[in-house]
Amino acid sequence: MWLALRKFAKRNGLLTLSVAAVLSGCTLGFMLRGTQLSPQAKLYFSFPGELLMRMLKMLILPLITSSLMSGLSSMESRACCRMGVLTVTYYLWTTFMAVVVGIVLVVIIKPGVGTDMESNRLGGGPVMTSADALLDLIRNMVPSNLIEATFQQYKTDLVPILKVAARTATPNFVYVVPGDAEGKGRTVLLELTPPPEVTYKTSPGSSQQMNVLGIVIFSATMGLLLGRMGERGAPLVNVCQCINECVMKIINAAVWYFPFGIVFLVAGKILDMQDPSTLGRKLGWYGVTVLAGLFVHGLVLLPLFYFLLTRKNPFTFIRGLLQALVIALATSSSSATLPITMKCLLEKCHVDRQIARFVLPVGATINMDGTALYEAVAAIFIAQVNDYELDFGQLVTISITATAASIGAAGIPQAGLVTMVIVLTSVGLPPDDITLIVAIDWILDRFRTMINVLGDALAAGIIAHLCRKDFPLSGEGKSVPSYGT
Ligand code: ASP
Repeated sequence: MWLALRKFAKRNGLLTLSVAAVLSGCTLGFMLRGTQLSPQAKLYFSFPGELLMRMLKMLILPLITSSLMSGLSSMESRACCRMGVLTVTYYLWTTFMAVVVGIVLVVIIKPGVGTDMESNRLGGGPVMTSADALLDLIRNMVPSNLIEATFQQYKTDLVPILKVAARTATPNFVYVVPGDAEGKGRTVLLELTPPPEVTYKTSPGSSQQMNVLGIVIFSATMGLLLGRMGERGAPLVNVCQCINECVMKIINAAVWYFPFGIVFLVAGKILDMQDPSTLGRKLGWYGVTVLAGLFVHGLVLLPLFYFLLTRKNPFTFIRGLLQALVIALATSSSSATLPITMKCLLEKCHVDRQIARFVLPVGATINMDGTALYEAVAAIFIAQVNDYELDFGQLVTISITATAASIGAAGIPQAGLVTMVIVLTSVGLPPDDITLIVAIDWILDRFRTMINVLGDALAAGIIAHLCRKDFPLSGEGKSVPSYGT
């Protein structure tokens, strides 16, 4: 056993270092929890982790644009169309299945029934209707300004909710509300470790998030058109291919910094974590329900789909993704993990390059099985805490809105908590009750992000198999050398 472990560690150096980094981060975080570090000291302590997040985020924009533009430009229209339809259908189907798993589990386990938790009912009424949310989603698909789209994400009226969340629970949120040109406030969700009373609005940790959905739509359209332009489009396609290669090289170099950054990223989170013994039984059971759902969906249903559709061993495929899953666990962001997921898919899972370049960026934007499952469980949990009986029609409404809300959620930490307002208001539940689950959201977020990333990657494997006739060069990824992992 020991020998086998040593052999595995030798062959998977980077993965072993990353897992060791997560464990060391947990240990360090728990050791330092007793010491009263000042907010400033915490900021310095979290700095290596912050650098890791910045590196990953830096790569998202060039990776998505160059992948989609160069990938789609070289595809034949029919193959492209088939791949697009298959991808979107598969994504919708698996997300809906995830929601169903969540609903079945929460209805059976009933984590919210009991007496150790009260609804907040802080008042204020619904701040955002499902229609508003849908309009917001469509609005994000058509960014009015591409430059602005690289740093803007939420344009909603969720300020009161986030304020309540920041005031009453774990200090994971800081909100910035600068008035925009139309005089409307813009809410930006940030992942910051300092407590809410210490608002580092202009600290190096604060950064706005990009509108990935808008960028994906624009780049895909450009890619398709470039492909139709023949010779005239070729120079731009070449540029995109060069950028893509450079980004992959940067990723291959940057990954060696990741284990170091992960230690401080994880330790910083643990330092700020609320004492688990104060969480209460109901919240504990709620956490268990979400984790059980994620487990069933990620390790039973998705592998089963993979096996049925490809007749290949899903766990061999998942083994190639472990590095990306560890990064998802450490960063809570499927967008930030995208560069590593791409690297794993090409180098370890040998998925066709053209397919990975399309399926992954689209998946990182619209396919969030883990988020959808958690939103459904959370909404029904809140109904149970409120003694609110949901009929079958309302369960159907929750399953549809949870699927839609996960599509609208960005691949950033705790984005699902924000879009959950849509699910709650759709069945008349108080949106302020989000505060009931905020305390353990940061940890559940890490696991649902892993499932989001796993779902995207398995989808790429499945689509590559189903479209293998359209892409005779399938397996091209095999020729890519593995850079020291
Ligand atoms: N953190 C998740 C992701 O990046 C989104 C969420 O569920 O909050 O995929």
